[in-house]
Amino acid sequence: MLPGRGRNGRAVQVSRVLGTRTAWTTVGDGEFFCPGCGGDRNYQRLTGRRRFTLLGVPVLPRGETGPVVECAACRQHYGTDVLDHPTTTRFSAMLRDAVHTVALAVLAAGGTCARTSLETAASAVRSAGFEDCTEDQLGALVEALAADTGRVFGEPCGASLAIELHEALDPLAPHLAPTGREAILLQGARIALADGPYTPAERDVLATVGAALTICSDDVTRLLVAARTPS
Ligand SMILES: [Zn+2]
Repeated sequence: MLPGRGRNGRAVQVSRVLGTRTAWTTVGDGEFFCPGCGGDRNYQRLTGRRRFTLLGVPVLPRGETGPVVECAACRQHYGTDVLDHPTTTRFSAMLRDAVHTVALAVLAAGGTCARTSLETAASAVRSAGFEDCTEDQLGALVEALAADTGRVFGEPCGASLAIELHEALDPLAPHLAPTGREAILLQGARIALADGPYTPAERDVLATVGAALTICSDDVTRLLVAARTPS
């Protein structure tokens, strides 16, 4: 049968004669979280040149298209904003660093580190993923931190500490559900409470943690009260 005959012959014929084709060029690659197949995958970043085709042969340039992100596993194309979402590996690392930084900040604010505080902190940091973290390591880090900033223990949250907290928490906050953000603050609160009631310096640090996690101050107050009630 000749092309173009049959019920849909005309449409078939036109699409064979005229069409557009996109030639993709790879402009980068990396790892991302693929929302299509749901996991950490390799991707290629592509830009495309669209051309009119005549009988399958590219004839007229139709301009640039993309850039798009192509998943190496499922071959789906996504907008580049898909790269804003951290990979599972990166997300776990951010979470781990966040808990570690909060623990150090609260310990540093608490003054001389009581054994119970160090134990609570080390246990939180281990559950967050630093499985080898010990009480002594944390104690040594807190001392180094104090020596480094020249800060006297017990003074209000220093500016450098606040910067560290924001660096660890700001990029994480948008990717956490409210309960996840609250959980980090609660862990900090329990470390602060391990050696007795909150000191003003500990409250300061926890307020900074709350702000960096985009928890409003009323909720911070509520959570700090809730942390005092053993669950
Ligand atoms: Zn995929």
